[in-house]
Amino acid sequence: MSTKIMIVEDEPALQATLSYNLEREGYQVEVVGDGVIALEMAQKLQPDLILMDVMLPGLDGLEVTRILRQKLNAPIIMLTARDDEIDRVLGLEIGADDYLTKPFSMRELLARVKAQLRRVRLIREEVQAAESPSEKLLTFGNLSLNLTRREASLHEEVIALKPKEYDLLHYLMEHRGQVLSREQILEKVWNWDFSGGSRTVDVHMRWLREKIEPDPTTPRRIITVRGAGYRFEG
Ligand code: CA
Repeated sequence: MSTKIMIVEDEPALQATLSYNLEREGYQVEVVGDGVIALEMAQKLQPDLILMDVMLPGLDGLEVTRILRQKLNAPIIMLTARDDEIDRVLGLEIGADDYLTKPFSMRELLARVKAQLRRVRLIREEVQAAESPSEKLLTFGNLSLNLTRREASLHEEVIALKPKEYDLLHYLMEHRGQVLSREQILEKVWNWDFSGGSRTVDVHMRWLREKIEPDPTTPRRIITVRGAGYRFEG
């Protein structure tokens, strides 16, 4: 889903320039030229970021921002035309996240937009991590899987795994201590969607051993159980 940006600006030339440049960056853009309509649209659209002109027909940008701030968490960048507007933006604590003084370059605007979106994304990731710490990691000794990022690490260093190697390791770690047959592994990890049969499992086990075993020739983690399959030992 693309990032939605709402532009609240009444000047047609600036509306066009802003939309053109933001759309070219891959953002989904909605333009509104009136303060009252901006309030309605913001609720309906739930934008990821808002560019807000100060001088607007209907209701001015400062008032719109103040009201929106109580309902939306999306960053708001104010677009100001005059020095006295900057003073009001800064002085009133209306909840804007940044401001740009007209005329501004598109490069500057895009940099500010990206910075705000990045900031929000980082906050969201931190909140998610704090809310679900147990979901995030699966750890045995110095081997750890980050389930959110689909990343494996050994001694806190990320190891490069192919997607199937990751899936396989995840399955093994979730069933630590259990003997798992090749058929069982094929069914769960490959979903029977494979060519090469049980040899596929053996090949992937060998690759995984090379990445997670201190000495792949004498495996301590991925144990071969003769005639039965494999067993993962933490
Ligand atoms: Ca204006």
